[in-house]
Amino acid sequence: MLDDFKDNKFYDYAVNLEKYYHAYLFEVDDIEASFKIILAFAKMIICSKHYTNNSKCEDCNICHLIDENYYEDLKIIEPDGAYIKKEQILEIKKNLSLKSSNSLNQVYIIKEADKLNTHAANSLLKFIEEPEEGIYAILITTNKKQILPTIYSRCSLITLKSNQEITYDLEEITYLVSFLELVYRKKEDAIPYLKEYFKDRYNSNTEIIRALNILEIILDTRISQEFQVNTITKLNFYDIIKSSLKGILKEELIYYLKIIVEFKNKLTMFPNLNINLFLDSLVIEMSKFEVM
Ligand SMILES: [Zn+2]
Repeated sequence: MLDDFKDNKFYDYAVNLEKYYHAYLFEVDDIEASFKIILAFAKMIICSKHYTNNSKCEDCNICHLIDENYYEDLKIIEPDGAYIKKEQILEIKKNLSLKSSNSLNQVYIIKEADKLNTHAANSLLKFIEEPEEGIYAILITTNKKQILPTIYSRCSLITLKSNQEITYDLEEITYLVSFLELVYRKKEDAIPYLKEYFKDRYNSNTEIIRALNILEIILDTRISQEFQVNTITKLNFYDIIKSSLKGILKEELIYYLKIIVEFKNKLTMFPNLNINLFLDSLVIEMSKFEVM
């Protein structure tokens, strides 16, 4: 985990207000364990003096109030029962729209953002789509694939998850990127090319699971915004992935990611699936994307 924002791109991000997105999605292993660092990120948005993940900001009344949970312009919500309800989102909207008396930024944090019910999600979407100046959303989840693509695509993703250890090289990344491009261009007509793309190269189900894992990493990296705090940033592949898959809507990339993870889980659970049928249906599902 991060020890200090100053060692990290967080710092650059926070000091450069123009780069701010209006909504951030944090993916973490454990929400409560990561909450301190996320709260510190919220403080950076609100308090111009706060650039560390140390909770204390010397002589700062605002950060002090935030720590005591008394700061009016920072709202935190979490599921009320099984879900986050529409009323909870509306209440935030109402409270934060009443312009902050001190003209500082306002922030709302949504814990377990994957538990928004449909009405709440629609309500939040409107809020994120037309953000009011000075209001920032921070969504937290342990599984970004459970977040609605329409919401996810409007957030800057920040990954604080522990790393997956999979080895791959540039050649393989390029190879799998071209697979994604093929499916994007040809849709179901990509099926005849599958032999070339998968079957000759990945000749066991375990190998195919590995390929799906790398596809997941590629899409994760491509979808995430300025930075992703895990392995990939240390590798040279980062820039290559970032500049690939041009012209594909972010929603579509997120859709691909969901399908690939779904299929990877399916193959992990049922390792004896017929691989030809499996790959055909993977491409068919990926081709079903429609602009929402
Ligand atoms: Zn402060």
